[in-house]
Amino acid sequence: MTADTAVHLFEETFGGRPSGVWSAPGRVNLIGEHTDYNAGLCLPIALPHRTYAALAPREDRLLRVVSAQGDGVVEVSLDDVAAGRPAGWAAYVAGVPWSLERAGRTVTGVDVAVDGGVPLGAGLSSSAALECAVAIAVSDLCGLDLSTSHEGRVTLAAACVEAENVVAQAPTGGMDQSAALLAEQGHALLLDCRDHTTRQVPFDLDGHDLALLVVDTRAEHQLVDGQYAERRASCERAAQELGVASLREIAGDTLEDRLTTLSSDLLRRRARHVVTEIARVEAACVALEAEDYRTLGRLFLESHASMRDDFEISVPELDTAVSAATAAGALGARMTGGGFGGSAIALLPRDEVDGARRAVERAFAMHGFTGPESFVVTAEGPAARDL
Ligand code: ADP
Ligand code: MG
Repeated sequence: MTADTAVHLFEETFGGRPSGVWSAPGRVNLIGEHTDYNAGLCLPIALPHRTYAALAPREDRLLRVVSAQGDGVVEVSLDDVAAGRPAGWAAYVAGVPWSLERAGRTVTGVDVAVDGGVPLGAGLSSSAALECAVAIAVSDLCGLDLSTSHEGRVTLAAACVEAENVVAQAPTGGMDQSAALLAEQGHALLLDCRDHTTRQVPFDLDGHDLALLVVDTRAEHQLVDGQYAERRASCERAAQELGVASLREIAGDTLEDRLTTLSSDLLRRRARHVVTEIARVEAACVALEAEDYRTLGRLFLESHASMRDDFEISVPELDTAVSAATAAGALGARMTGGGFGGSAIALLPRDEVDGARRAVERAFAMHGFTGPESFVVTAEGPAARDL
């Protein structure tokens, strides 16, 4: 998966050379799950895995898109892009210039060839990587000048969120697009979903002989739509009963007293996860600033327990990955992403990585689960032009 393979695909499909190649990373969230729609905090890093897009502008309003991970060429006029149109993967591409135009920017048609290096559907946000690679490309090609400033990148992230919500018709909070466009190398990105501010927090594993292992459980996502809606509705209901605009407003120290006033044990547990998780993100930032990775590991484990017991979004594969990695020497581990499948992360001393990987594989085999994919990641840079 490189810029060159995207160029080859472009030449093969459309003839002629692309004007350039742009790429954007996948992301993994270190901590802060299901906090975005509660005006809370999350802390993603950008991955070394990137999606590459080779583009050339057109003189008409046609969009032609091809992907090494898709099937065939999809053609659609900018005038025909709408909710659910085009269908399938090309929506994530076509939605981006469509959204920028809706926001009053002048765009043209483009030819796009994609080669994605972010595993699809593993909870590592291949969808945002695809959108954001296209977004900075369109900005550069159409002279929108949105890729060179923080404010411009925030505008691009909003266009990508709209593309995904409206055209691809997938609910997404915005963490993925912000991470892909704003996260810096060697840092995690603290995202405040209440006032939409961001802060770079140092994340230097190398300097501490540590490594972050991502375990893609390859567990089937089940009942995700209904479950996500229930969690959101429960959080809204809890905030309403507590008389606050969002669960962000509940301070940690008076938590249990406040929670006893809620009308059910279910609401108490849902709210407890969100409030304590936001506090854990704050504590994780303090720990990272102090280079205290042991505390970060402990926070990972507390976060996982909260998601398993209070928010009930884990599955046996995720719990198995977390306990096997911890038993094999991890400072901490947790499921990451929305839950019900996807990936777990483990913070490990560098020389324990291979052993932990084998321990997770053995535990999966023992339970009869599909074999997991695992890989070591570092915090890399945001969407950029490559060629
Ligand atoms: P995630 O973002 O966690 O990988 P999503 O379901 O949000 O999972 O997005 C995955 C979808 O994004 C794929 O099913 C496909 O439609 C689209 N997609 C992502 N990357 C590519 C790619 N390189 N080529 C074609 N489609 C892609
Ligand atoms: Mg996605």
